[in-house]
Amino acid sequence: MARIVLKFGGTSVGDIDRIKNVARKVEQEVKAGHQVAVVVSAMSGVTNQLVKYCNDIDKLHDAREYDAVVASGEQVTSGLLAIALQSLGIPARSWAGWQVPIRTDDTHGKARIVSIDTTEMEKSLQTGEVAVVAGFQGVSEQGRIATLGRGGSDTSAVALAAAVKADRCDIYTDVDGVYTTDPRIVAKARKLDKITYEEMLEMASQGAKVLQTRSVEMAMNHRVRVQVLSSFEAAAGSSLPGTLVVDEDEIVEKEVVSGIAYSRDEAKITLVGVADQPGVAAAIFGPLTDNAVNVDMIVQNVSEDGKSTDMTFTVGKADIARAVKVLEDAQSTLNYKRIVSDANVVKVSVIGVGMRSHAGVAQRMFKALADKGINIQVISTSEIKISVLIAEEYAELALRALHTAYGLDAA
Ligand code: ADP
Ligand code: ASP
Ligand code: MG
Repeated sequence: MARIVLKFGGTSVGDIDRIKNVARKVEQEVKAGHQVAVVVSAMSGVTNQLVKYCNDIDKLHDAREYDAVVASGEQVTSGLLAIALQSLGIPARSWAGWQVPIRTDDTHGKARIVSIDTTEMEKSLQTGEVAVVAGFQGVSEQGRIATLGRGGSDTSAVALAAAVKADRCDIYTDVDGVYTTDPRIVAKARKLDKITYEEMLEMASQGAKVLQTRSVEMAMNHRVRVQVLSSFEAAAGSSLPGTLVVDEDEIVEKEVVSGIAYSRDEAKITLVGVADQPGVAAAIFGPLTDNAVNVDMIVQNVSEDGKSTDMTFTVGKADIARAVKVLEDAQSTLNYKRIVSDANVVKVSVIGVGMRSHAGVAQRMFKALADKGINIQVISTSEIKISVLIAEEYAELALRALHTAYGLDAA
């Protein structure tokens, strides 16, 4: 007998038939003798609609009330799946985040899980009852409902798997695994049998939304065995094998580049004509940090006259208005000539642990983009990743060109 956590995303619980289908999948695991906890997302489209309701009343809404509204989608699906399981004769109950409880910090809208008290759930699981947990939500230190950021049900699932010491955490979604790049954009994308935690972490943080970044962090820290697989393939009988997220030493043949991710959630800001002297970077990025604007890529141009230079950097698209306002307010101390912002950019990243021991990986990227006439605006690198910022209109062309250039195309 094993203990397993299964997570079903929005499309997998998108309507009543799909919820019944999920119930049958859970039934198979129960019949195999396993103890099962299931984490569910809201039905697809529901969270977007709830977010819109909040914004339609007031864009500057109270984040605690936003959480009360958007967390409701998961409450619906947890109850519905429990009913579907009961109607198959399987004992099941729903758990809201606060009932478990899944405790979070007070960062409403993107709260972090602090701890999970599994005492009550343990008792329930021991009796053979299936726990159906509402993903994406927990309860804050103040006793308020808090949500974990978009895509947060993945993190609920992995955190729960760590807390109940599950043998596996299966993430069911609308693709049958992690691909070399988004299969909805590049038809020749290949499914990976295995990917390392580190690569998956970079893929997720650079935009591959198949797993939320924090869920990968959590899996890595707690050594949770995570598998990504489709809830649609092999409806009857067992699922097709998906992608296993593993330690590096479990992968014998290391690819130089294993995957390519992209993020449209980027905006570029350039401060033209800032003084080229010590302390300038600190003066620019200090106020942004104070206003909770995260800066990602940064490039400082060479100073032509030794006195002034241009500073270019990227922020999340949602933060652009706030970032510009902060910098305009600081104009008198920063003394730049102009501020230029551009939201029509996309960040494309190539990722692979093999990069550590291979030369020429970046050059291949630059050449492939140059051959297609795509201009690179900003570059940033880490040990296992190279990212470039390009005009948004070239996103798909760049992904396809890079996919071919690194020999990733499916046969
Ligand atoms: P769920 O609702 O199940 O959580 P998501 O929409 O959050 O599903 O994530 C699945 C989607 O992630 C896929 O439909 C796919 O378009 C996208 N995706 C992006 N990059 C990748 C990748 N490298 N491999 C697989 N899917 C990817
Ligand atoms: N329903 C939430 C969202 O759409 C959480 C999730 O699906 O993981 O972001
Ligand atoms: Mg998701």
